[in-house]
Amino acid sequence: MPRPCKRRRVCAMPGCRRFGPMDGAVALGRQPIVLTVDEFEAIRLIDFEGLTQEACAARMNIARTTVQAIYACARGKLAECLVTGRELTIQGGAYVLCGGTGACGHPCPRLQRAAALQAGQENGQGPQQENEPKTPMEGETKTRCELQ
Ligand SMILES: [Zn+2]
Repeated sequence: MPRPCKRRRVCAMPGCRRFGPMDGAVALGRQPIVLTVDEFEAIRLIDFEGLTQEACAARMNIARTTVQAIYACARGKLAECLVTGRELTIQGGAYVLCGGTGACGHPCPRLQRAAALQAGQENGQGPQQENEPKTPMEGETKTRCELQ
């Protein structure tokens, strides 16, 4: 029986979900490459924040070997897009959004946002709109690296 996939903790949703070439060289007729949200998080933590794979694994609450696999897969997809001009979409994946409670062991974007929201409410301001889904996209649990 297959082991149920452990969901990866994600502390920041992507601000943009669709990427592609700006010079008209898009590979017409080809489906966009799909980068999952957990793959995006690995790229964000390792390449953007400069974390080691060990630190990334702790943040995402998964094993380092899993981070290694996710990261390698994500890099392969990004390279494919850059080199061939295919579009990229960020969606799906096996993840849970960080509750912003500090459980990830870091003042992450969601923890900071939760603090800001609370401060705003104490000041009598309404909560800010978040440009992201309230719940992760359930049901999409494709975790294998698939470059079509
Ligand atoms: Zn977090």
